[in-house]
Amino acid sequence: MLQAGNGMPTTPLLMIPGPVEVSPAVTRAMSVPPPGHQAPGLIEAFGQALQDCRTVFKADADAAAYIVAGSGTLAMEMAASNILQSGDRAVVANTGYFSGRMAEIARRCGAEVTLIDATPGDAPSLEAIERHIATVSTRGSVKALFATHVDTSTGVRLDPEPLAALARQHDVLSVFDGVCATGGEHFDMAAWGADIYLTGSQKALSAPAGAALLVAGPRALKARQSLRQPPPLYLDWTSWDPIMKAYHENRPSYFATPATNCVLGLAQGLREIVSDTYEDLNGVDARVARHHTASTALRQAWAVMGLEEIPVRSELRATTLSALRYPAGVDAGLLAQLRQRGLVVAGGLHPALKTQYFRVGHMGYVTTQPHLLEQTVTVLAEGLTAAGHRVDSKAAVDAFRQGVN
Ligand code: PMP
Repeated sequence: MLQAGNGMPTTPLLMIPGPVEVSPAVTRAMSVPPPGHQAPGLIEAFGQALQDCRTVFKADADAAAYIVAGSGTLAMEMAASNILQSGDRAVVANTGYFSGRMAEIARRCGAEVTLIDATPGDAPSLEAIERHIATVSTRGSVKALFATHVDTSTGVRLDPEPLAALARQHDVLSVFDGVCATGGEHFDMAAWGADIYLTGSQKALSAPAGAALLVAGPRALKARQSLRQPPPLYLDWTSWDPIMKAYHENRPSYFATPATNCVLGLAQGLREIVSDTYEDLNGVDARVARHHTASTALRQAWAVMGLEEIPVRSELRATTLSALRYPAGVDAGLLAQLRQRGLVVAGGLHPALKTQYFRVGHMGYVTTQPHLLEQTVTVLAEGLTAAGHRVDSKAAVDAFRQGVN
């Protein structure tokens, strides 16, 4: 339970894989009477957020950054609809529920989509993806390769770097869904040559839900220019280009109303990432390192509790969330046990496994607050014991502490 200033319990501790806890400063930044979209403070925050978004994505100056009102799904729609048109071929690396969504979005843009499958908890191999791209290329080229950086339904993390390189090698655009990764997992858009990276405000960026963020590199921007028909007006990058330019230059502008309070919170959340310091590291590298430490420490506690993870190999485990199998005799009733104790975690999401596991988010602000992570360990241990799976709570907390120190 989070404590109010007067020591009274307030809201439960939100440890789902998004939305997540945000810092008190983020809450303060957005808890103001709604500003107009042309208010000087809003314009300044927007410009700052765009700049920090590029920094967090590690994007080059020739990439275009967009922040628009909407959720992560809107950013996915924006990515696909600006590069795909009917007759195009697209490939989606399937690591779970959100890869399926990406495939459906690409299909609705008229593309012929191939999902390269893996068993749930695994990821398709680079070789399998390359084989498909190389084979199809002989019949007419693949236009875009889509991959989910961290699939929130399985807790599986892909390594985007070799995928981006593979795409370049075959003259294919690479698009990465970073909704459950950005700000928590390493991503270097410029160095890796990724063409589009997209995310939502409500996960590792530690801001409220409501903003879709996307950065498009020069090859992706060129693909937009080559479309026979423009995308839907709201999704079209060219609708937003003058607006983003104006915000960059601290000038008022209007195309469609931004989620103004959300932008204030997002700007603060991004500032906290960009100005973070941890173990000789700065900015997003420091924040990513915190995620690594937090997830390693939590995994030490999960091991003591006898919890197994959905990702089939350790290198596939995301740092932003854990997808944990219910131990024998425990089911989704555990979630209610935890909620009663002030901790909110999420149930399963992957259709094939839904009833077999639950998910604990550990991203964003909480990675700077080890006591909140420790509280999660304690309450989970108590909840499991109450649900019939006896756990040595002290040993689990000790294992966690060894990991964070
Ligand atoms: N992709 C991934 C990896 C996600 O985790 C989510 C949200 N859970 C989405 C896309 C969709 O984002 P939203 O719910 O904000 O539309």
